[in-house]
Amino acid sequence: MVHGAQDGPLIVVAAALIRDDRVLVQERPAGKALAGLWEFPGGKVEAGETCEAALVRELSEELGIALGSEALAPHSFVTGTAGDRPLLLLLYVATEWAGEAHALEASALCWANYADLCALPMPPADVPLVAALRPL
Ligand code: C5P
Repeated sequence: MVHGAQDGPLIVVAAALIRDDRVLVQERPAGKALAGLWEFPGGKVEAGETCEAALVRELSEELGIALGSEALAPHSFVTGTAGDRPLLLLLYVATEWAGEAHALEASALCWANYADLCALPMPPADVPLVAALRPL
């Protein structure tokens, strides 16, 4: 089981929430790293936390939705860098959750179709994950 840690790679989990052939992306707000770029919602896995628990927590904090952690398995991943730290970004796909998503931390939300996703400016690590969603 992968847990977050204080050192070593930064482990980030993110979700592709899919509804009616669209996927939810959010705009990173001013003042944060990568501000203005559109990302799959998620965030850092904290020390001692499992990836699935981190994803459930992040989606609650960022969107106010409840994702069940039982059936979650990573769909794809990418490695990169976040500042001077190696980054491992895991993407999960979900089609069921409870509640309506609101931009609690992002500056905006977008239910994007595949063409929208390809056109939106995204953080470098998120870009290859879009291609991995193409078959869905
Ligand atoms: O959201 P937060 O700033 O906590 O995320 C930490 C880092 O993870 C970001 O600065 C960014 O480098 C990376 N990240 C990403 N794509 C996401 C979420 C986070 O590249 N969808």
